[in-house]
Amino acid sequence: MEKIRCLIIGGGPAGYTAAIYASRANLSPVLYEGLQPGGQLTTTTDIENYPGFEKGVGGQALMDAMKTQAANLGADIRRGTVTSADLSSRPFRITVDNGGEISAESLIIATGATAKYLGLESETRFRGMGVSACATCDGFFYRNRNVAVVGGGDTACEEASYLANICSKVYMIVRRDVLRASQAMQDKVMNTPNIEILWNCNTQEILGDLSGVTGARILRKDGEVFDIAVDGFFLAIGHHPNSEVFSKWVKTDENGYIVTDGKTSHTNVEGVFAAGDVQDTIYRQAITAAASGCKAALDAEKFLNNLQ
Ligand code: NDP
Repeated sequence: MEKIRCLIIGGGPAGYTAAIYASRANLSPVLYEGLQPGGQLTTTTDIENYPGFEKGVGGQALMDAMKTQAANLGADIRRGTVTSADLSSRPFRITVDNGGEISAESLIIATGATAKYLGLESETRFRGMGVSACATCDGFFYRNRNVAVVGGGDTACEEASYLANICSKVYMIVRRDVLRASQAMQDKVMNTPNIEILWNCNTQEILGDLSGVTGARILRKDGEVFDIAVDGFFLAIGHHPNSEVFSKWVKTDENGYIVTDGKTSHTNVEGVFAAGDVQDTIYRQAITAAASGCKAALDAEKFLNNLQ
C-alpha cells in the first residue's frame, strides 16, 4: 500500500494552496483533484475580487496557475476521486476510484461544495438538455434565446447578468419578494433591461419535448400558475458540501459542513484537517478558501512534526 505523509483531497483554491504550503514544508504532499479539477471557479468567467489582479482574472486561468505553482514546488497532483475512507486509526486508509488504497499520516479535506437542484422529476429528465447549474459553462448554447435562472443570491445575480449579455431575455425566478444577494449585485440585475424578476415564484415543472427544455410552469405565492417560454433553465440556489465520504468519522453540522475547531483547520479526528467550502458556512470565497488551505497545511505540518 502506498504511504503518504500529507494527503490532500480536492483540486480547488483550498487544495492547491494547501499543496503549495505543504510542498514548501517538505511534507511531500499528494493531491487528488476529484471530478472537477480546479473546482467551482473553473465554472466562472472573470473574478474581480481575488487580490493581485488589477483587471481581474479568469477562473480557469487562476486555478491553472495555482495548480502549476503547486506542481512546480513538488506537489504530486493526480486525477482521482476518493470513494471511501477509514479514519478510525492512523495511518488513515483511503481508497481512490482508480483502484488504489493509500495509507496517509495526515489528511487535508478540501472537497468543496456542489450545486443544489430543486428536486423536480422534470429537472432530472432535462438535465444536460436545457437544465444546467452553470451559466458560464452552458450559457453559450442559448445565444439570442430566452432563459431562466432560479435563485436570489449572489450566484443567481451573477449568472443572470452573465446570461443577459448573451441571451435575449433572462427571467429570474425568486421565491421571496427580496433578493439575498449583495447590494451591488442587486443593483446590477435591477438595472439590466433584459432581466425580468419573477418575485414570489416557484417552479412547478420544467416543460419540454424531445429537443429539450421549452419552458417552465411557475406558481406564484398568490396561487396564479403561468408558463414562461425558455430554452435554458439554470439553477443557482446554493451548494451542498462534499463531505459524505468522510462524515462517518468527521463531525459535520446539520447541513453536512465539516466542523473545525475554532480558528484552526483541526477536525474532531486528530491528523485530519478541513479547508475551503466543505467547512465554510459563511464566506465561501476563493480567497477565503485559499487562506484556509494555507492554515490546513500549517496545521498538518505542526501535527506531523510533533509525531517525530
Ligand atoms: P445563497 O445561499 O446565498 O443563495 C441561494 C438563493 O437561492 C437564495 O436566494 C435562496 O432563496 C434561493 N433558494 C434556495 N433554495 C431554493 C429553492 N429550493 N427554490 C428556490 N430558490 C431557492 O447561495 P449563492 O450560491 O448565491 O451564494 C453562496 C455564497 O457565495 C454567498 O455567501 C455569496 O455571497 C457568495 N458568492 C459571492 C460571489 C462574489 O463575491 N463574487 C459570487 C457568488 C457567490 P432565499 O433567499 O429565500 O433563501
